[in-house]
Amino acid sequence: MTDAAERREQLKQVYLEASACTRCALSETRTTVVFGAGNADADLMFVGEAPGANEDKQGLPFVGQAGRLLDKLLAEIGLERSDVFIANVLKCRPPGNRDPRPQEIEACRDYLHRQVELIEPRVICTLGNFSTKLLRGDPTGISRLHGQAEVHVLGHRAVRLFPIYHPAAALYTPSMLETLRADFARLPELLAMDPPPQPEAFDEPVPELEPDEAFPPDGVPAAEDADPVAPSPGTAEEPPLSADQLGLFE
Ligand code: URA
Repeated sequence: MTDAAERREQLKQVYLEASACTRCALSETRTTVVFGAGNADADLMFVGEAPGANEDKQGLPFVGQAGRLLDKLLAEIGLERSDVFIANVLKCRPPGNRDPRPQEIEACRDYLHRQVELIEPRVICTLGNFSTKLLRGDPTGISRLHGQAEVHVLGHRAVRLFPIYHPAAALYTPSMLETLRADFARLPELLAMDPPPQPEAFDEPVPELEPDEAFPPDGVPAAEDADPVAPSPGTAEEPPLSADQLGLFE
């Protein structure tokens, strides 16, 4: 088996594990675990916040209005979903689309880290505040960071993180949409760069910020962090998809 095929098989195992997850109380209210979907060997990965109502029903990430904007922005740079992998910080929908809580992020983050380790993307686009703070391990907000790529070591891999605004935030704010589009336009150049040098085997674990530090329990973001992720408006209901339909195995 090739390295990529082996990693895809391992990703399937993580998917199966996540599908039955009861690590936090969101397992009691979710309809479907939204593991993520796309190319399991993608160079480019997107990480959003959490599934909304449509995603929870269909078991797929970004299927509402924000997802359609994401598809459009991808098409503008000559990419489609099957070229990339799309995941979220949380794999289960927070009721009423409230913000993810620190203990939920903590319970779920191992899945995201395993996805990153197995997919081995060169570039990870963090969409909005939650994924940016989690993967950067720092509480700095998206409005200060968007459009600035930086190399980070996640787990045992060095990857280019590229924070951008969340598409749901840009849906209703034309100036933010233009900023998002301009940041998106930088992606081909980032993907064309040589991959960042990989670190040697670590003696010391890489320090990570605890979710409590990045996401204060009061859940009130600083004004500069404003990232109003609107709930996805409803679309026609479709039955949940099975594992094989997830597009995970492309
Ligand atoms: N918003 C997100 O952050 N993720 C989704 O999957 C859908 C909307």
